[in-house]
Amino acid sequence: MIRKDGGVKVTVVGAGFVGTAFAYSLLIRSLVSKVVLIDADRERAEGEAMDLRDGLPFLEPVAVSVGDYEDCADSDIVVVTAGSTRKSTQSRVDWARENFAVMCEVVSKVTEYNKKCILLIATSPLDVMTYVALKVSGFSKMKVIGSGTVLDTARLRFLLGEYLGVDSRNVHSYIIGEHGDNEVPLWSLANVAGARLKEYLRLLSMPFEESVFDNLFVGVRDAGSEIIRRKGRTNWGIGLTLTRIVESIVRDENSVLTVSCYLENYHGIGDVCLSVPAIVNRDGVKRIIDLPLSPKEEEALQKSADAVKEIIKSLGL
Ligand code: NAD
Repeated sequence: MIRKDGGVKVTVVGAGFVGTAFAYSLLIRSLVSKVVLIDADRERAEGEAMDLRDGLPFLEPVAVSVGDYEDCADSDIVVVTAGSTRKSTQSRVDWARENFAVMCEVVSKVTEYNKKCILLIATSPLDVMTYVALKVSGFSKMKVIGSGTVLDTARLRFLLGEYLGVDSRNVHSYIIGEHGDNEVPLWSLANVAGARLKEYLRLLSMPFEESVFDNLFVGVRDAGSEIIRRKGRTNWGIGLTLTRIVESIVRDENSVLTVSCYLENYHGIGDVCLSVPAIVNRDGVKRIIDLPLSPKEEEALQKSADAVKEIIKSLGL
């Protein structure tokens, strides 16, 4: 970590619904010593910081403030949640263009003051914005991480655990690829307590019904839009997801998380950011895990990469 006092400082750029859900969960997990909120709308950031500070007497000591980009100088991690959510009338490309401008501005300003931090990106379209942050920052690929499909993987493990009647912590399965419509469930590697999914079902005398697992995946893939349809946005789940990634960095855990990161040659896929299982520690992405995929999964991952690359290309990158 960067700070000489041994504490950990996290700056959040974007004090909207996602940024503040993240800041809140970070505070109650007592993972860091300083949290700074930066937002183009300074009053909004001030209001959020005041509100968060009101609860500090109930928590372990942490300093919460509103800042400017100079405050990034000694931040260990800068989390970017600035940018808009997609409007119903907006195409994916127009939305990407809008947030491309935001990401260029934010990352240029952050890196003016800090070239050593880890950049953790939540702004969507996620994989495209992670790629933009990597290119604009000029940082090493280890240091630029997107929240990716960590949340989707958690959803899959939860639903699978529920269906099988087993604690989701004992269910291992990943969602990889694009965070969005083209994400890919790795059924071929799903296992419970070390037993492959099909073997585990046999142990329970349950049939393997493809439609059940297809529906389960649809539930995972469409969870975000189902939440947005009901409450207009998603924020709590992503806030906790960002906290989980920060936890792995701050505690130097070497945890395997499906973060979005730069791929050079993953099953032949390169020059794009996508989620794959990666070991995350204090240096960022320490290693990408090259898992064996079924032919169907490889094909779906390629489709995911093509979809992300198409948007990147439309931005002129
Ligand atoms: P929001 O509108 O509540 O907050 C966005 C904030 O960004 C606002 O406070 C705005 O003032 C600020 N902002 C905009 N441009 C800025 C700039 N140039 N510099 C500094 N601040 C700027 O939106 P939200 O609900 O918090 O969502 C934020 C982003 O996170 C969106 O792009 C959304 O799609 C994305 N998101 C991602 C995930 C994920 O899984 N990765 C989940 C939910 C939302």
